Amino acid sequence: MKINANYLNLKDGYLFATVAKKTKEYKAAHPEKEVIRLSIGDVTLPLAPAVISAMHGAVDDLSKKETFKGYGPDFGYESLVNAILGSYARKGVSLAFNEVFVSDGAKSDCGNILDIFDQDNVVMVPDPVYPVYVDTNVMAGRKIVYADATAENGFLPMPDQNVNADLIYLCSPNNPTGAAYSKDQLRAWVDYALERDAVILYDAAYEFFVTDPSLARSIYQVEGAEKCAIELCSFSKTAGFTGVRCGYTIVPNALVRQGTPLNKLWARRQSTKFNGVSYITQTGAAAVFTEEGERQIGESLAYYRKNAQTIANCLDELGIWYTGGKNSPYLWLRCPNGMGSWEFFDYLLENANVVGTPGSGFGKNGEGFFRLTSFGSAESTEEACRRIVALLKKG
Ligand code: PLP
Repeated sequence: MKINANYLNLKDGYLFATVAKKTKEYKAAHPEKEVIRLSIGDVTLPLAPAVISAMHGAVDDLSKKETFKGYGPDFGYESLVNAILGSYARKGVSLAFNEVFVSDGAKSDCGNILDIFDQDNVVMVPDPVYPVYVDTNVMAGRKIVYADATAENGFLPMPDQNVNADLIYLCSPNNPTGAAYSKDQLRAWVDYALERDAVILYDAAYEFFVTDPSLARSIYQVEGAEKCAIELCSFSKTAGFTGVRCGYTIVPNALVRQGTPLNKLWARRQSTKFNGVSYITQTGAAAVFTEEGERQIGESLAYYRKNAQTIANCLDELGIWYTGGKNSPYLWLRCPNGMGSWEFFDYLLENANVVGTPGSGFGKNGEGFFRLTSFGSAESTEEACRRIVALLKKG
Protein backbone atom coordinates (compact mmCIF):
# COMPACT_ATOMS: atom_id res chain seq x y z
CA MET A 1 0.00 0.00 0.00
CA LYS A 2 1.32 3.41 -0.95
CA ILE A 3 -0.25 6.76 -0.16
CA ASN A 4 -0.52 9.51 -2.76
CA ALA A 5 2.75 11.15 -1.75
CA ASN A 6 1.89 14.23 -3.78
CA TYR A 7 -0.26 15.27 -0.83
CA LEU A 8 2.93 15.69 1.19
CA ASN A 9 3.95 18.43 -1.24
CA LEU A 10 0.94 20.60 -0.37
CA LYS A 11 1.59 23.76 1.57
CA ASP A 12 -0.45 24.20 4.76
CA GLY A 13 -3.70 26.05 4.12
CA TYR A 14 -2.73 28.51 6.80
CA LEU A 15 -4.10 31.77 5.33
CA PHE A 16 -7.71 31.84 6.54
CA ALA A 17 -6.85 29.84 9.67
CA THR A 18 -4.21 32.40 10.64
CA VAL A 19 -6.55 35.32 9.89
CA ALA A 20 -9.20 33.70 12.12
CA LYS A 21 -6.70 32.90 14.88
CA LYS A 22 -5.22 36.41 14.97
CA THR A 23 -8.70 37.95 14.96
CA LYS A 24 -9.87 35.70 17.78
CA GLU A 25 -6.80 36.46 19.87
CA TYR A 26 -7.21 40.19 19.36
CA LYS A 27 -10.90 40.06 20.32
CA ALA A 28 -10.12 38.03 23.45
CA ALA A 29 -7.52 40.58 24.51
CA HIS A 30 -9.78 43.56 23.68
CA PRO A 31 -13.38 42.52 24.38
CA GLU A 32 -14.51 46.16 24.41
CA LYS A 33 -13.53 46.72 20.74
CA GLU A 34 -15.88 46.10 17.84
CA VAL A 35 -13.89 44.27 15.17
CA ILE A 36 -15.21 44.53 11.58
CA ARG A 37 -14.43 41.83 9.04
CA LEU A 38 -13.81 43.06 5.51
CA SER A 39 -12.27 39.67 4.89
CA ILE A 40 -15.54 37.80 4.31
CA GLY A 41 -15.38 35.68 1.15
CA ASP A 42 -18.89 34.38 1.77
CA VAL A 43 -22.22 35.99 0.97
CA THR A 44 -24.29 37.37 3.86
CA LEU A 45 -27.67 38.24 2.30
CA PRO A 46 -30.45 35.60 2.32
CA LEU A 47 -31.67 33.70 -0.74
CA ALA A 48 -34.04 35.51 -3.11
CA PRO A 49 -37.78 35.08 -2.33
CA ALA A 50 -38.31 33.46 -5.77
CA VAL A 51 -35.70 30.81 -4.90
CA ILE A 52 -37.18 30.16 -1.46
CA SER A 53 -40.67 29.81 -2.88
CA ALA A 54 -39.47 27.39 -5.60
CA MET A 55 -37.64 25.33 -2.98
CA HIS A 56 -40.76 25.16 -0.80
CA GLY A 57 -42.66 23.89 -3.83
CA ALA A 58 -39.97 21.26 -4.43
CA VAL A 59 -40.23 20.07 -0.82
CA ASP A 60 -43.99 19.70 -1.30
CA ASP A 61 -43.35 17.71 -4.50
CA LEU A 62 -41.24 15.28 -2.50
CA SER A 63 -44.07 14.83 0.02
CA LYS A 64 -46.49 13.31 -2.54
CA LYS A 65 -46.30 9.97 -4.28
CA GLU A 66 -47.31 11.50 -7.64
CA THR A 67 -44.56 14.12 -7.67
CA PHE A 68 -41.86 12.42 -5.58
CA LYS A 69 -38.36 12.37 -7.12
CA GLY A 70 -35.58 9.89 -6.47
CA TYR A 71 -32.29 10.00 -8.37
CA GLY A 72 -32.33 12.80 -10.88
CA PRO A 73 -30.86 12.93 -14.39
CA ASP A 74 -27.05 12.59 -14.32
CA PHE A 75 -26.33 16.08 -15.63
CA GLY A 76 -29.21 18.12 -14.21
CA TYR A 77 -32.99 18.48 -14.44
CA GLU A 78 -34.26 19.72 -17.78
CA SER A 79 -35.84 22.83 -16.22
CA LEU A 80 -32.52 23.94 -14.72
CA VAL A 81 -30.45 23.14 -17.81
CA ASN A 82 -32.93 25.09 -19.95
CA ALA A 83 -32.78 28.01 -17.49
CA ILE A 84 -28.96 27.99 -17.76
CA LEU A 85 -29.17 27.89 -21.58
CA GLY A 86 -31.53 30.89 -21.42
CA SER A 87 -29.10 32.80 -19.21
CA TYR A 88 -26.29 32.14 -21.73
CA ALA A 89 -28.52 33.17 -24.63
CA ARG A 90 -29.06 36.55 -22.91
CA LYS A 91 -25.25 36.95 -22.94
CA GLY A 92 -25.24 36.20 -26.68
CA VAL A 93 -23.92 32.65 -26.24
CA SER A 94 -25.75 29.74 -27.80
CA LEU A 95 -25.08 26.36 -26.16
CA ALA A 96 -26.46 22.89 -26.76
CA PHE A 97 -28.41 21.08 -24.02
CA ASN A 98 -25.76 18.37 -23.59
CA GLU A 99 -22.97 20.94 -23.06
CA VAL A 100 -24.30 21.88 -19.60
CA PHE A 101 -23.39 19.80 -16.54
CA VAL A 102 -25.05 20.76 -13.27
CA SER A 103 -22.81 20.24 -10.25
CA ASP A 104 -22.61 20.91 -6.54
CA GLY A 105 -20.36 23.91 -7.07
CA ALA A 106 -17.39 25.31 -8.93
CA LYS A 107 -14.85 24.26 -6.30
CA SER A 108 -15.61 20.56 -6.72
CA ASP A 109 -15.57 20.83 -10.49
CA CYS A 110 -12.26 22.76 -10.48
CA GLY A 111 -10.75 19.66 -8.92
CA ASN A 112 -12.88 16.97 -10.57
CA ILE A 113 -12.32 18.18 -14.14
CA LEU A 114 -8.68 17.17 -13.81
CA ASP A 115 -9.76 13.50 -13.96
CA ILE A 116 -10.11 13.78 -17.73
CA PHE A 117 -6.56 15.10 -18.30
CA ASP A 118 -3.30 13.17 -18.33
CA GLN A 119 -0.93 13.70 -15.43
CA ASP A 120 1.82 14.76 -17.82
CA ASN A 121 0.12 18.01 -18.81
CA VAL A 122 1.87 21.24 -17.84
CA VAL A 123 -0.52 23.52 -15.97
CA MET A 124 -0.41 27.30 -16.04
CA VAL A 125 -1.83 29.11 -13.04
CA PRO A 126 -1.91 32.86 -12.47
CA ASP A 127 -0.14 34.12 -9.36
CA PRO A 128 -1.86 35.33 -7.19
CA VAL A 129 -5.07 33.32 -7.54
CA TYR A 130 -7.73 31.14 -5.86
CA PRO A 131 -5.54 28.48 -4.19
CA VAL A 132 -7.67 25.50 -5.31
CA TYR A 133 -6.10 25.48 -8.81
CA VAL A 134 -2.61 24.96 -7.42
CA ASP A 135 -3.52 22.50 -4.69
CA THR A 136 -5.61 20.20 -6.91
CA ASN A 137 -2.73 19.94 -9.37
CA VAL A 138 -0.13 19.42 -6.66
CA MET A 139 -2.31 16.51 -5.46
CA ALA A 140 -2.14 15.07 -8.97
CA GLY A 141 1.63 15.63 -9.20
CA ARG A 142 1.42 17.93 -12.22
CA LYS A 143 4.05 20.43 -13.21
CA ILE A 144 2.83 23.98 -12.59
CA VAL A 145 4.10 27.13 -14.28
CA TYR A 146 2.96 30.51 -13.09
CA ALA A 147 1.64 33.46 -15.07
CA ASP A 148 2.74 36.50 -13.10
CA ALA A 149 -0.05 38.90 -12.21
CA THR A 150 1.47 42.19 -11.08
CA ALA A 151 0.63 45.85 -10.67
CA GLU A 152 2.36 46.42 -14.05
CA ASN A 153 -0.15 44.24 -15.93
CA GLY A 154 -3.08 45.32 -13.76
CA PHE A 155 -3.08 41.80 -12.25
CA LEU A 156 -4.24 40.46 -15.61
CA PRO A 157 -1.39 38.34 -17.01
CA MET A 158 -1.37 37.91 -20.78
CA PRO A 159 0.04 34.91 -22.69
CA ASP A 160 3.81 34.62 -22.97
CA GLN A 161 4.66 32.96 -26.30
CA ASN A 162 7.87 31.59 -24.76
CA VAL A 163 6.01 29.58 -22.14
CA ASN A 164 4.19 26.41 -23.10
CA ALA A 165 1.24 25.11 -21.16
CA ASP A 166 -1.37 22.43 -21.80
CA LEU A 167 -3.95 23.46 -19.23
CA ILE A 168 -4.49 27.13 -18.46
CA TYR A 169 -6.49 28.44 -15.54
CA LEU A 170 -8.11 31.83 -15.92
CA CYS A 171 -10.38 33.39 -13.32
CA SER A 172 -12.28 36.52 -14.25
CA PRO A 173 -13.41 38.55 -12.36
CA ASN A 174 -10.54 37.32 -10.30
CA ASN A 175 -10.35 36.14 -6.75
CA PRO A 176 -8.44 37.74 -5.02
CA THR A 177 -7.58 40.72 -7.24
CA GLY A 178 -11.03 41.65 -8.57
CA ALA A 179 -9.40 42.33 -11.96
CA ALA A 180 -11.50 41.25 -14.96
CA TYR A 181 -10.44 40.50 -18.52
CA SER A 182 -11.90 42.38 -21.46
CA LYS A 183 -13.16 40.33 -24.40
CA ASP A 184 -10.11 41.50 -26.39
CA GLN A 185 -7.71 40.28 -23.73
CA LEU A 186 -9.45 36.93 -23.57
CA ARG A 187 -9.15 36.66 -27.36
CA ALA A 188 -5.35 36.63 -26.93
CA TRP A 189 -5.65 33.71 -24.50
CA VAL A 190 -8.02 31.85 -26.82
CA ASP A 191 -5.57 32.32 -29.72
CA TYR A 192 -2.69 31.13 -27.54
CA ALA A 193 -4.62 28.01 -26.49
CA LEU A 194 -5.78 27.21 -30.05
CA GLU A 195 -2.21 27.50 -31.38
CA ARG A 196 -0.99 24.96 -28.83
CA ASP A 197 -3.99 22.66 -28.63
CA ALA A 198 -4.14 23.66 -24.97
CA VAL A 199 -7.31 23.80 -22.89
CA ILE A 200 -8.42 26.82 -20.86
CA LEU A 201 -10.24 26.19 -17.58
CA TYR A 202 -12.19 29.40 -17.21
CA ASP A 203 -13.59 30.11 -13.74
CA ALA A 204 -16.54 32.48 -14.09
CA ALA A 205 -17.74 32.24 -10.48
CA TYR A 206 -18.03 36.04 -10.23
CA GLU A 207 -19.38 36.81 -13.71
CA PHE A 208 -22.64 38.27 -12.37
CA PHE A 209 -20.66 41.14 -10.84
CA VAL A 210 -19.63 42.33 -14.31
CA THR A 211 -21.54 45.39 -15.50
CA ASP A 212 -19.04 46.86 -18.01
CA PRO A 213 -20.11 45.54 -21.46
CA SER A 214 -16.52 45.48 -22.73
CA LEU A 215 -15.66 42.87 -20.11
CA ALA A 216 -16.38 39.20 -20.62
CA ARG A 217 -19.22 37.45 -18.79
CA SER A 218 -18.34 34.16 -20.43
CA ILE A 219 -15.27 33.05 -22.36
CA TYR A 220 -17.66 31.84 -25.09
CA GLN A 221 -18.31 35.48 -25.92
CA VAL A 222 -14.94 35.16 -27.69
CA GLU A 223 -15.06 33.38 -31.03
CA GLY A 224 -13.18 30.10 -31.09
CA ALA A 225 -13.38 29.60 -27.30
CA GLU A 226 -15.75 26.67 -27.82
CA LYS A 227 -12.79 24.84 -29.36
CA CYS A 228 -10.45 25.37 -26.41
CA ALA A 229 -12.28 26.25 -23.19
CA ILE A 230 -14.25 24.69 -20.37
CA GLU A 231 -16.21 27.16 -18.23
CA LEU A 232 -16.87 26.66 -14.52
CA CYS A 233 -19.82 28.54 -13.04
CA SER A 234 -21.46 28.80 -9.68
CA PHE A 235 -24.69 29.94 -8.05
CA SER A 236 -22.70 30.73 -4.89
CA LYS A 237 -21.85 34.37 -5.38
CA THR A 238 -24.46 34.92 -8.09
CA ALA A 239 -27.41 33.98 -5.91
CA GLY A 240 -26.18 33.31 -2.39
CA PHE A 241 -25.92 29.52 -2.80
CA THR A 242 -22.64 29.09 -0.85
CA GLY A 243 -24.44 26.92 1.70
CA VAL A 244 -27.02 25.42 -0.67
CA ARG A 245 -24.39 24.19 -3.19
CA CYS A 246 -25.03 24.37 -6.91
CA GLY A 247 -22.93 25.18 -9.95
CA TYR A 248 -22.58 24.20 -13.59
CA THR A 249 -19.75 23.41 -15.94
CA ILE A 250 -19.82 23.89 -19.69
CA VAL A 251 -17.91 21.45 -21.89
CA PRO A 252 -18.58 22.33 -25.55
CA ASN A 253 -19.07 19.59 -28.12
CA ALA A 254 -16.54 21.37 -30.35
CA LEU A 255 -13.76 20.87 -27.79
CA VAL A 256 -11.94 17.86 -29.19
CA ARG A 257 -8.43 16.68 -28.34
CA GLN A 258 -6.63 13.63 -29.77
CA GLY A 259 -9.80 12.89 -31.70
CA THR A 260 -11.89 12.64 -28.54
CA PRO A 261 -14.62 15.12 -27.55
CA LEU A 262 -13.91 16.19 -23.97
CA ASN A 263 -17.67 16.43 -23.47
CA LYS A 264 -17.85 12.66 -23.81
CA LEU A 265 -15.09 12.11 -21.26
CA TRP A 266 -16.65 14.50 -18.75
CA ALA A 267 -20.10 12.94 -19.21
CA ARG A 268 -18.55 9.54 -18.51
CA ARG A 269 -16.69 10.83 -15.49
CA GLN A 270 -19.75 12.51 -14.02
CA SER A 271 -22.14 9.63 -14.59
CA THR A 272 -19.63 7.32 -12.90
CA LYS A 273 -18.53 9.40 -9.91
CA PHE A 274 -21.34 11.89 -9.27
CA ASN A 275 -25.00 11.29 -8.50
CA GLY A 276 -26.36 14.76 -9.12
CA VAL A 277 -27.56 17.73 -7.12
CA SER A 278 -30.70 17.48 -4.99
CA TYR A 279 -34.06 18.18 -6.60
CA ILE A 280 -34.78 20.93 -4.04
CA THR A 281 -31.52 22.70 -4.81
CA GLN A 282 -31.94 22.46 -8.59
CA THR A 283 -35.51 23.74 -8.41
CA GLY A 284 -34.28 26.74 -6.39
CA ALA A 285 -31.42 27.28 -8.85
CA ALA A 286 -33.79 27.26 -11.83
CA ALA A 287 -35.77 30.05 -10.16
CA VAL A 288 -32.63 32.24 -10.16
CA PHE A 289 -32.90 32.61 -13.92
CA THR A 290 -36.59 33.53 -14.03
CA GLU A 291 -37.40 37.18 -14.63
CA GLU A 292 -38.40 37.62 -11.01
CA GLY A 293 -35.35 35.71 -9.76
CA GLU A 294 -32.91 37.74 -11.85
CA ARG A 295 -34.49 40.97 -10.60
CA GLN A 296 -34.20 39.83 -6.99
CA ILE A 297 -30.60 38.58 -7.22
CA GLY A 298 -29.89 41.88 -9.00
CA GLU A 299 -30.91 43.67 -5.80
CA SER A 300 -28.47 41.63 -3.70
CA LEU A 301 -25.69 42.15 -6.23
CA ALA A 302 -26.41 45.89 -6.19
CA TYR A 303 -26.11 45.88 -2.40
CA TYR A 304 -22.65 44.26 -2.56
CA ARG A 305 -21.65 46.57 -5.43
CA LYS A 306 -22.54 49.58 -3.30
CA ASN A 307 -20.30 48.27 -0.53
CA ALA A 308 -17.52 47.82 -3.09
CA GLN A 309 -18.04 51.44 -4.17
CA THR A 310 -17.84 52.58 -0.53
CA ILE A 311 -14.47 50.85 -0.17
CA ALA A 312 -13.28 52.16 -3.55
CA ASN A 313 -14.18 55.73 -2.50
CA CYS A 314 -12.19 55.27 0.69
CA LEU A 315 -9.11 54.06 -1.22
CA ASP A 316 -9.49 56.88 -3.76
CA GLU A 317 -9.60 59.41 -0.93
CA LEU A 318 -6.39 57.95 0.49
CA GLY A 319 -4.70 57.77 -2.94
CA ILE A 320 -4.14 54.02 -2.55
CA TRP A 321 -3.63 51.97 -5.74
CA TYR A 322 -6.06 49.08 -6.21
CA THR A 323 -7.71 46.79 -8.71
CA GLY A 324 -11.27 45.42 -8.65
CA GLY A 325 -14.29 46.78 -6.85
CA LYS A 326 -16.06 47.82 -10.04
CA ASN A 327 -16.96 44.53 -11.68
CA SER A 328 -16.11 42.38 -8.72
CA PRO A 329 -16.88 42.01 -5.00
CA TYR A 330 -13.13 42.13 -4.25
CA LEU A 331 -10.76 45.06 -3.91
CA TRP A 332 -7.06 44.41 -4.07
CA LEU A 333 -4.91 47.21 -2.77
CA ARG A 334 -1.26 48.00 -2.45
CA CYS A 335 -0.41 48.10 1.26
CA PRO A 336 0.34 51.71 2.22
CA ASN A 337 3.78 52.95 3.23
CA GLY A 338 5.54 49.91 1.74
CA MET A 339 4.14 47.57 4.38
CA GLY A 340 4.13 43.81 3.83
CA SER A 341 0.79 41.98 3.64
CA TRP A 342 0.85 40.56 7.19
CA GLU A 343 2.36 43.75 8.59
CA PHE A 344 -0.59 45.71 7.19
CA PHE A 345 -3.01 43.05 8.48
CA ASP A 346 -1.70 43.53 12.04
CA TYR A 347 -1.59 47.33 11.68
CA LEU A 348 -5.22 47.48 10.51
CA LEU A 349 -6.46 45.01 13.11
CA GLU A 350 -4.72 46.74 16.00
CA ASN A 351 -5.35 50.36 15.02
CA ALA A 352 -8.67 50.32 13.15
CA ASN A 353 -10.05 46.98 14.38
CA VAL A 354 -10.67 46.02 10.76
CA VAL A 355 -9.80 42.59 9.36
CA GLY A 356 -8.79 42.00 5.74
CA THR A 357 -6.93 39.21 3.96
CA PRO A 358 -3.15 39.38 3.37
CA GLY A 359 -2.40 39.12 -0.34
CA SER A 360 0.71 37.02 0.22
CA GLY A 361 -1.59 34.09 1.06
CA PHE A 362 -2.68 33.89 -2.60
CA GLY A 363 0.77 33.58 -4.15
CA LYS A 364 4.20 35.21 -4.10
CA ASN A 365 3.08 38.18 -6.21
CA GLY A 366 0.46 38.95 -3.57
CA GLU A 367 3.14 40.12 -1.11
CA GLY A 368 2.65 43.81 -0.35
CA PHE A 369 -1.04 43.61 -1.35
CA PHE A 370 -4.24 43.14 0.60
CA ARG A 371 -7.79 41.96 -0.19
CA LEU A 372 -10.95 43.64 1.08
CA THR A 373 -14.41 42.29 0.29
CA SER A 374 -17.84 43.80 -0.15
CA PHE A 375 -19.85 40.91 1.31
CA GLY A 376 -20.42 42.56 4.71
CA SER A 377 -23.29 44.81 5.75
CA ALA A 378 -23.48 48.35 4.39
CA GLU A 379 -23.25 49.79 7.92
CA SER A 380 -20.14 47.86 8.92
CA THR A 381 -18.49 48.52 5.54
CA GLU A 382 -19.07 52.28 5.96
CA GLU A 383 -17.81 52.21 9.55
CA ALA A 384 -14.72 50.21 8.55
CA CYS A 385 -13.97 52.73 5.80
CA ARG A 386 -14.34 55.68 8.20
CA ARG A 387 -11.82 54.02 10.51
CA ILE A 388 -9.38 53.21 7.70
CA VAL A 389 -9.50 56.79 6.38
CA ALA A 390 -9.01 58.23 9.88
CA LEU A 391 -6.08 55.91 10.58
CA LEU A 392 -4.23 56.24 7.29
CA LYS A 393 -4.75 60.00 6.97
CA LYS A 394 -3.23 60.39 10.41
CA GLY A 395 -0.43 57.87 9.71
N1 PLP B 1 -13.98 29.81 -7.87
C1 PLP B 1 -13.55 30.92 -7.26
C2 PLP B 1 -12.63 31.82 -7.98
C3 PLP B 1 -13.95 31.21 -5.95
O1 PLP B 1 -13.49 32.31 -5.36
C4 PLP B 1 -14.82 30.33 -5.29
C5 PLP B 1 -15.27 30.58 -3.92
O2 PLP B 1 -14.82 31.40 -3.19
C6 PLP B 1 -15.24 29.20 -5.96
C7 PLP B 1 -14.81 28.96 -7.26
C8 PLP B 1 -16.11 28.19 -5.28
O3 PLP B 1 -17.39 28.21 -5.73
P1 PLP B 1 -18.48 27.18 -5.21
O4 PLP B 1 -19.05 27.75 -3.95
O5 PLP B 1 -19.46 27.07 -6.32
O6 PLP B 1 -17.79 25.88 -4.94
